[in-house]
This record gives sequence, C-alpha cells and structure tokens, in this order.
Amino acid sequence: MMIISNSAGSKIIYPEVRLTEVDSSVRVKKTLTTLAKTGGLTLLSVFIPILHFILVPVGVIVTATMTYRAFHRNYVIDSIEIHCPSCDKKSTQSVSAQELPIRTLCLHCGHMVYLTNEHANA
Ligand SMILES: [Zn+2]
Repeated sequence: MMIISNSAGSKIIYPEVRLTEVDSSVRVKKTLTTLAKTGGLTLLSVFIPILHFILVPVGVIVTATMTYRAFHRNYVIDSIEIHCPSCDKKSTQSVSAQELPIRTLCLHCGHMVYLTNEHANA
C-alpha cells in the first residue's frame, strides 16, 4: 500500500492506491507473453506486400517498448480509495487501468478524479 498524491483542479487530495507486488516469475511470464504477441504480429506483417516497409519497423519499436514496459511493471493496482475534493466523501473502487495516471469518477457525485504519482505544481 502506498499513498499517491492526487490533483483535481487546484486541490490536492490523497487517495490510497493498493498495490500488489508481482513476483519476478510472473513478471518474466508476462514479459514473454507480451514479446510473443507483439513480436508475432510483427513477424506476420513481413508477409504483407508493400505495407511491410512500414509495419515491420513500427512493429519492432512497439515490441521493444511493450516488452520493456511489461518487464518494469512490478506492481498490480488492486483498488484505489478516493477522497473526493468536491463532495468530501470517500469511495473505494477497483480500476482496470494498470498505469498511472488514472482518471476515474467519484461514485457519489461524479466528479472527475485524476490520479498521478506527481505532485501538482499549482
Ligand atoms: Zn464526490
């Protein structure tokens, strides 16, 4: 569990983000899955006439980027606890996004809540 600063407008609120550490074997597995998927698509695009001049270089870059990011993601976001700056209520929600920043809505008033790991320089 860690606290991440949150900016919404000019107010700074502090939601809790529950993180699960991912052990290295799972990370390696996910990294290889990402590599196989994106790398596989890149290999397939070699057989598309003309377009492969574009698709292959792009595919190589995407494969490298996605694989790098998969390897460095050592956490899974389970749920976030929002302290809404607008209605001052707390709500806990699960999120599908796995990377910050995360945009979500307050369950009570629908206020946009923006989660980031950077402090707002307002
Ligand atoms: Zn609210």
